[in-house]
Amino acid sequence: MVGERARERLLTILSEKGIESAPVLAAMANVPRHLFVDEALAHRAYDDVVLPIGYEQTISQPFIVARMTEVLYREAKHDRILEIGTGCGYQAAVLAQLWTRVYSIERIRDLHRYARQRLLALGLANIQTKAADGHYGWPEEAPFDAIMLTAAPPEIPQRLLAQLGEGGCLLAPVGAQGVVQYLTLVRRVGDDFEYTRLDAVRFVPMRKGIED
Ligand code: SAH
Repeated sequence: MVGERARERLLTILSEKGIESAPVLAAMANVPRHLFVDEALAHRAYDDVVLPIGYEQTISQPFIVARMTEVLYREAKHDRILEIGTGCGYQAAVLAQLWTRVYSIERIRDLHRYARQRLLALGLANIQTKAADGHYGWPEEAPFDAIMLTAAPPEIPQRLLAQLGEGGCLLAPVGAQGVVQYLTLVRRVGDDFEYTRLDAVRFVPMRKGIED
């Protein structure tokens, strides 16, 4: 059993690092991160660190999950959100506490399958997932109020911007491999897109195609 105290300590760290939104902190408190990592790593699940999830991929650092969630929660409506890069499903589970409907896409079939099982086991019925290349987004379910990328493209795919509704916001780590990536917020205003550059970050690259 992973201690309540470890979870409380994580919330304190998140507040100290500048996460202010009470709903976002409550969402972080609600999701048992230890269930999203391998049992052997469960004792580190409430440290504010990136952990491996296999397939050369990672579960994001809790602070980054909270930070990205907070930005989109502040800037966008809370109805429909699309995530690119499901990974283990942790970020999607956090989003599901705050948005009415969550759509999440993962390109590695095995990761997608495990994430889907986990999310179902947690009873999170407002998340839909699919194994696909996120560059195409999810046109059948567009428009979205918010889109979050958790893998870094060298530049934001136009197809994804086209799936934002009016006033909708996309948040992504942007940067070519080996170069500093910046979290970039894009808001759709009519046919225009307003870009704002935020924190320097480090994410795994967004790749093309799907993988078995
Ligand atoms: N959101 C995750 C972070 C996972 S790491 C979390 O909650 O911790 C990023 C994930 O993006 C990896 O699993 C990787 O396979 C996936 N990814 C990379 N390129 C992708 C693409 N084009 N489409 C969908 N998923 C992609």
